[in-house]
Amino acid sequence: MKIQFTEAQRALRDELRAYFSQMMTPELRAECERDMGEGGGPLWREALARMGRDGWIGLGWPEEYGGRSLSPLEQFVFVEEVMRAGYPFPFLTTESVGPTLAEHGNDWIREHIVPAILAGELLVSIGYSEPAAGTDLAALQTTAVRDGDDWIINGQKMWTSLAHFCDYTWLAVRTDPDAPKKHKGITMFLVPNSDPGWSCTPVHTLGGVRTNATFYDNIRVGDDHRVGEVNGGWKLITSQLNRERLSLINFGPISELFNRVVQWARETTLPGGAAVASQPWVQANFARCRTLIECMKLIVYKQSWAMTEGTLGMADASAAKVYGSEGFIEVYRYLGEVVGQAGLLRSDSAGADALAGKIERLYRTSSIITFGGGTNEIQRDIISAAGLWMPRASR
Ligand SMILES: Cc1cc2nc3c(=O)[nH]c(=O)nc-3n(C[C@H](O)[C@H](O)[C@H](O)COP(=O)(O)OP(=O)(O)OC[C@H]3O[C@@H](n4cnc5c(N)ncnc54)[C@H](O)[C@@H]3O)c2cc1C
Repeated sequence: MKIQFTEAQRALRDELRAYFSQMMTPELRAECERDMGEGGGPLWREALARMGRDGWIGLGWPEEYGGRSLSPLEQFVFVEEVMRAGYPFPFLTTESVGPTLAEHGNDWIREHIVPAILAGELLVSIGYSEPAAGTDLAALQTTAVRDGDDWIINGQKMWTSLAHFCDYTWLAVRTDPDAPKKHKGITMFLVPNSDPGWSCTPVHTLGGVRTNATFYDNIRVGDDHRVGEVNGGWKLITSQLNRERLSLINFGPISELFNRVVQWARETTLPGGAAVASQPWVQANFARCRTLIECMKLIVYKQSWAMTEGTLGMADASAAKVYGSEGFIEVYRYLGEVVGQAGLLRSDSAGADALAGKIERLYRTSSIITFGGGTNEIQRDIISAAGLWMPRASR
């Protein structure tokens, strides 16, 4: 078996690396750090629109949507490189909701929303979870009720990340309260966050990342804002979540951080004069990190290839998410041990070190991916049932 990128793919990676090293000015970098690695600031938006104009965002998208018709592998290389460069790329919009909209959206969505996403001018937040619907998502209570040609939406969502600077919310609502099975009464809508009936309040998390509670108060939308069939939303949710689970495991930033810590350990000396990197336990930590990151790469590249072939399975996306999310935490822990006590200080503390402070923050935020996109406990259920054909857990 031979696993390697083609000459053209390697050239693409080089081109992207050069492009992003020029794009990431000190000002943009500082803005991204200030926004806790989430984006949303003016320079961040400007850079996104520039990537759109330069045709990068839709690299692997079909030409009919304004893309360049390369494969999901090239698309993944693009996202890997943009995030390696330190740019918080809005991959939930471009890599998970966007493709679902392109596949299932009506003419209005394909003609207006999808091109704007590829132009880097439109962002979408995800409105699934509610105060009483997380893992049991089919229990959601936000409603959409028909009113002539329109729909009236009412309810509350919880944990609507990035919604405070997104343009629309990809919203799951109940359209048939009497459906014999809860998940058969759900429909997807695209709701404008600019509507006067839309509001949000911040929720600040342990990791310093902001998420939101969002409220939908008599929002009227036309039927063109509906995505897919009435009561057919569940299929779209699972399709989007498979894409999300895979795109969450982007190892670009962690590889870059790993390289920087290795470099630091080579150049930094202990009181006796030996390099930090000369200690066997440090080398063992680095070896563990390298192993985890290399395995993540292989899993994700293989799955990007499976997407190219149209064979990506649900259990595989869940396996990537479980392995990657738990691997990230391990790597940050190993790197935190190497930088020592400085790795316990927040970057805004007196005497904090920039590199160690970054590890501290990433370690604090990394647990999010173990439940974002569906908890790892449930992913393990999916892997055993859909990947290994074990009997379903009877809970
Ligand atoms: C920072 C952050 C960002 C988020 N961003 C978004 C977002 O943008 N959009 C969005 O819609 N949601 C978002 N979420 C919500 C996230 O997807 C949910 O937290 C997740 O789906 C789990 O739901 P829950 O929190 O209600 O936990 P629960 O469902 O209450 O689960 C609690 C625990 O019980 C376990 N559990 C539950 N049911 C079972 C079962 N049947 N079998 C075995 N174990 C079970 C779970 O695995 C978990 O460990 C975000 C959450 C956070 C904290």
